[in-house]
Amino acid sequence: MNDVFPKRGSHDPALLNLHELDRYERAQIPAGPPPKQDPLKRVLNFQEVFLGYDEEQAVVEAARCIHCPSPEPCILGCPLHNDIPTAMLLIEERRFAEAADVFRATSNMPEVCGRICPQEILCEGSCTVAGYDRAVNIGKLEAYCTDWQRHHKGLPHYQIAPPSGRRVAIVGSGPAGMSAAEELMRDGHEIVVYEEWPKPGGLNVYGIPGFKLIKQIIAEKVTWLEQYGVQFICNTRVGTDIALQTLLDEYDAVFLGIGAPIGNKAKLPGEDLKGVYQATEFLVRANLPLEDLPARMRARPEIAKHMAVIGGGDTSMDCVRSSIRLQRQSGMNDGVVTDYYRRTEHEMPGRAEERMHAKQEGVQFEFLVAPVAFHGDEAGHVRELELQRMALGAPDASGRRSPQPVEGSNFRVPADVVVLALGYSPDPEIGNTMPNLEKGWKGLFKVETEFTGATNIPGLYAAGDDVRGADLVVTAVAAARHAARAMDKYLRALETPPKHERVALKTDTSLLVPAE
Ligand code: SF4
Repeated sequence: MNDVFPKRGSHDPALLNLHELDRYERAQIPAGPPPKQDPLKRVLNFQEVFLGYDEEQAVVEAARCIHCPSPEPCILGCPLHNDIPTAMLLIEERRFAEAADVFRATSNMPEVCGRICPQEILCEGSCTVAGYDRAVNIGKLEAYCTDWQRHHKGLPHYQIAPPSGRRVAIVGSGPAGMSAAEELMRDGHEIVVYEEWPKPGGLNVYGIPGFKLIKQIIAEKVTWLEQYGVQFICNTRVGTDIALQTLLDEYDAVFLGIGAPIGNKAKLPGEDLKGVYQATEFLVRANLPLEDLPARMRARPEIAKHMAVIGGGDTSMDCVRSSIRLQRQSGMNDGVVTDYYRRTEHEMPGRAEERMHAKQEGVQFEFLVAPVAFHGDEAGHVRELELQRMALGAPDASGRRSPQPVEGSNFRVPADVVVLALGYSPDPEIGNTMPNLEKGWKGLFKVETEFTGATNIPGLYAAGDDVRGADLVVTAVAAARHAARAMDKYLRALETPPKHERVALKTDTSLLVPAE
C-alpha cells in the first residue's frame, strides 16, 4: 500500500522541520479549519461556502497526520479505502499532483467526496488525531490537492486498455453511472451514457447545490471522459424514450445507476396546493441556470416572506439554505426560513456542519413538530402550515427515539412556500418495464452482492442508490467500481460476437412507458 510513501528528509529542505516532528509533536499542531465565506456575504450568492486552503495552510494541516501504523484507521473508515496517510505526506511535501493521484487511484470523484462526504463519520471519524484536537481535515485536503492538480496540470492522462470491441450502456450519469463509465472506459470498452436531464452529472449537478459543490468540477470531468470517447446522450429517459430491453439487445452489457430520485410525499391534506414543492424540483429551480433545466422547469421557485422546509436530513438543509439565499438576493431581508423536524436536533440524520452553516445564515429551526395539513387561500395557494407537537418515545427500528403525537397540540404557522424534504425512493419505471428483473424492498434492484452488482438478468448490472436506497456519493462510487470490475470480467468471458454487429439498431416502442 505504501510503495510510493516518500522517504523522510529526502525532499525540500524547507520542509525539514515538519519532517523532524515526531508523532506527538504532529498531534500538537493546532487544527486549521479552511476559510469560509462570511455568512452575511454568502447568503447573497450560490458560490461555495468553503474557500479552500491556501498552499501553506494545506501543508501544515497535512503535517498533522501522525502516520498511524497499519491498518490505518482512516483508510478503514473510508468506503473507498483511499490511501490517506500517503496522500497526507505528499501534500506535506508539496507534491500535490502526486497526492491527487493517490486519491484518484481508488476514487473516481475525489473532488466531490472531499467536499460532501460526511467525513466526521468516515475517514475523519476514525482519525487518531481527533483524540488530541480535531481530526485532520482529510476531506478538505483531498479537495485541495485534486483541485490543485486540475488547475495546474489538468485531469491526468491514463493508459487505456486496447479496444475490447464491446459496447456498454450506462443508465444515469450521477456518481455511480459516471464512476462505472470511467472504469469501463479504462478497460477498453466503448461507453454510451444515457441521462434524462439536459446535462450530464445526475445528482452531482441536479441534486447538490452550488454552495456545496461547484458544478465546473463535473463539467470538466464530462469533457475529460468525452476526450476518451465516452458518449453522453442527454434528455433521454430509459423506460420512456428508450426501453431497457432495447439497450440489452444492442449493448453487450448495461449498468443501471439511476439512483433513488423520487421524493417521498407527505400524504397530507393540501399537499397539492400551489407553493408546495418537492425538494428536488425546488433545488434545481433555485440553483441551476434555467437553460440547464427541462423546459417544464425553466422558472425560479417562488420567493416568499415565510418559507418552510420539512425534514431533517442534508436535503432539508440544502433547501433552507437555498431559500434564504433566494430571499436575501431578492432584497427580502425580513424573510423567515424555518426548518420543521419531528424529533430533536440530536436525532437529525443530516450533518452537524450543514446545520451549523444554516444557523449561521439565519435559518430558524423548530423541533418536535410534524406537519398535519397545508392550508391555502381561495386561489389554491398554500398560506399556512398546520403542525402538531411531538414527544419522544421509545427507540424505533432506526435506533432513534420515535416521535409520538401530543394530543390537542395542533397549531398553525404562516407559510407561503413549503418544501418537502422527506427522503427519497427509487424510480419504479425501469423496473416496471422489465417484469422479470428481480426487485426487493421498495422496488430497489436486487443484485447478487454489492461486490458484483449483477442482477438476475445476464449482462445487466446495478449499483448505488438504486440498490441500497438513498445513501452517500462515496458508497455509490465504491459500489460502481466493484460492479465495473465484475462487468469487465463478464465482457471478457463472452464468446459471442459483439451485439452491435448482430442486431439492427432499432427501438421497440411496445416496451415503452408513455410519457406523461
Ligand atoms: Fe474521507 Fe470520503 Fe475522501 Fe474517503 S472519499 S477519504 S471518506 S472524504
